[in-house]
Amino acid sequence: MLAVSKTKPVSDIEKAIACGQTEFGENYVQEGVDKINYFSTNSSLIWHFIGPLQSNKTRLVAENFAWCHTIDRLKIAKRLSEQRPESLPALNVLIQINISDENSKSGILLSELDGLAAQISILPGIKLRGLMAIPAPESGYEQQVQVLTKMEQAFKALQSQYPDIDTLSMGMTNDMDAAIACGSTLVRIGTAIFGARDYSSNK
Ligand SMILES: *Cc1c(COP(=O)(O)O)cnc(C)c1O
Repeated sequence: MLAVSKTKPVSDIEKAIACGQTEFGENYVQEGVDKINYFSTNSSLIWHFIGPLQSNKTRLVAENFAWCHTIDRLKIAKRLSEQRPESLPALNVLIQINISDENSKSGILLSELDGLAAQISILPGIKLRGLMAIPAPESGYEQQVQVLTKMEQAFKALQSQYPDIDTLSMGMTNDMDAAIACGSTLVRIGTAIFGARDYSSNK
C-alpha cells in the first residue's frame, strides 16, 4: 500500500511512519522533494512520484524519487533515464494507461502499450516495473471491476513478455476493493488514511 500524502503536512506523514508505513506517494514535484529532504535521514522510506510530469521537472524526479508511476511518453522516459544519477539504483517506472477516461490527457491507450514498453525497457537508469491507471470515477463495484479487468489483462500480457514486470498500480480510496479483486499489487490510498484534502491554500 502506498500512502498518498499530497497536500498533507509532514506531521501526518510522521504519524503514518509511526504506524509502520514506509511507502509514500506525492503528486507535486516540489512538495514531494521538500518532504523527501525533510525525511532524508530515514533511509527506510520509499518515495513514489504519482502526478503528471512535465519535462522541465524530470530532473528533480530522477534525482529524488525511487519510483515514477506516470510515464506516458518516450520523451519523459528518456529524460529520466539520462538524468538518473549513477550513484542511485535504477528509477522504477510504470507506464500510465488511459483506461477509461476519454477526457484525461494523461496515459496512453492500450493499443500503444507494446510499442512504448519496448522502447522504455531498453533504457539505462530506469527499470520498467509495470502499469498504472487512474480510471474515471465509477461508484458501482461491478462497473469498477469491468474497467479494472482490462488493466489486469494488459498487465498479464506484459508480464508474459517481460518477466521482471511485477507492479500493477491501481486502486484508490473509492475503488480499492475492486482493484484488489482485479490483481492490483499496489493500491494508492490518500483520503482513507489521511482524511479529505484541503486545496484552499492552492496546493
Ligand atoms: C490523489 C491520488 C490518489 C489517492 O486518492 P484518494 O482517493 O484520496 O485515495 C491516488 N492516486 C493518484 C494518482 C492520486 O493523484
